[in-house]
Amino acid sequence: MEIAGYRLDIEAAVATVKQQGYKTVAVQVPEGLKHSIVPLVEYLEKQTGARILLSADPCFGACDVVNYELRNMDVECVIHLGHTPMAAVENFWMPTIFVNAFSTADASPVVEKAIPVLVGTRVGVVTTAQHLHTLDTVEALLQKHGLEPLRAEGDERVSSQGQILGCNFSAGTSIADKVDCFLFIGSGMFHPVGLAMSTRKQVIAADPYTNTVKKKEIEEMGDALLRQRYGAITVSRSAQRFGILIGSKRGQQRITLAYELKQMLDEAHKHSVLMVMDEFSPVFLQGFREIDCYVSTACPRIAIDDYLQYKKPILTPIELEIVLGRREWESYVFDEISP
Ligand code: SF4
Repeated sequence: MEIAGYRLDIEAAVATVKQQGYKTVAVQVPEGLKHSIVPLVEYLEKQTGARILLSADPCFGACDVVNYELRNMDVECVIHLGHTPMAAVENFWMPTIFVNAFSTADASPVVEKAIPVLVGTRVGVVTTAQHLHTLDTVEALLQKHGLEPLRAEGDERVSSQGQILGCNFSAGTSIADKVDCFLFIGSGMFHPVGLAMSTRKQVIAADPYTNTVKKKEIEEMGDALLRQRYGAITVSRSAQRFGILIGSKRGQQRITLAYELKQMLDEAHKHSVLMVMDEFSPVFLQGFREIDCYVSTACPRIAIDDYLQYKKPILTPIELEIVLGRREWESYVFDEISP
């Protein structure tokens, strides 16, 4: 089925629901597909005969499979749209069917445009879930121009070769020493900037939606981000009370890390409180006036992307190490979640 410029293999999900005889099924949808989701829900209802509960909550990644409370509503299975399976999450609460949404945008024109600005000949090829199906074509195009594309497996947090997430660049870092640059296929700046900071390699981003290529902008944004992070670290040095934020979404839970951070703060004679949150919002933290600074062990994008929305500084675990003098600024790296 095609909706809003994406192709979803919903028929395979229908077959599984019918085969397993599920009577009540929850459906999760990313923000970008919400505006066109009703026909798909109606199709599922009609084809499976099951009762469909559409989750209206935000869903930003495979890390976030709907709440186990749904079990109390007789939900037997979750159909999670728009993301690929993640080992830590799959089938944890209940059977989960991941249905990726493949963009119908043709990547070839923008890759042709990107080829003249690539650096060297060995090119690491990476993308997000929506464009994974284009990578064979992308590699063929690069080869046609005499380049050597390289695509690597990531760790268990990703499901396909060449796939990166905002919290996991392992498909890039594992080949960083074998390539001259990376070609990122996709939209947005967070992934290419994060990849550049994790691999210390030049990243060229080719966006099939807008047919634009970005190279210098990625470097500039990386520099601006580093300045912002340096500022956050500097103001946090005088903080006395820290809130260590633990994400309750299954694929964002890093409880052991949170305990380790508390231990570090104890040893530095700083006060700290372990705090659990599901949906991160500055509004929910406003009441905790005694806290001077937060450290987020949940999605790494919260501290980086949403920093300006928070009234108190919010750090990544690596940045806390720098604040406490356990790590040098020169060895700053992006926060990532491993399986
Ligand atoms: S933790 Fe954040 S970056 Fe990683 S999959 Fe979830 S929402 Fe995306």
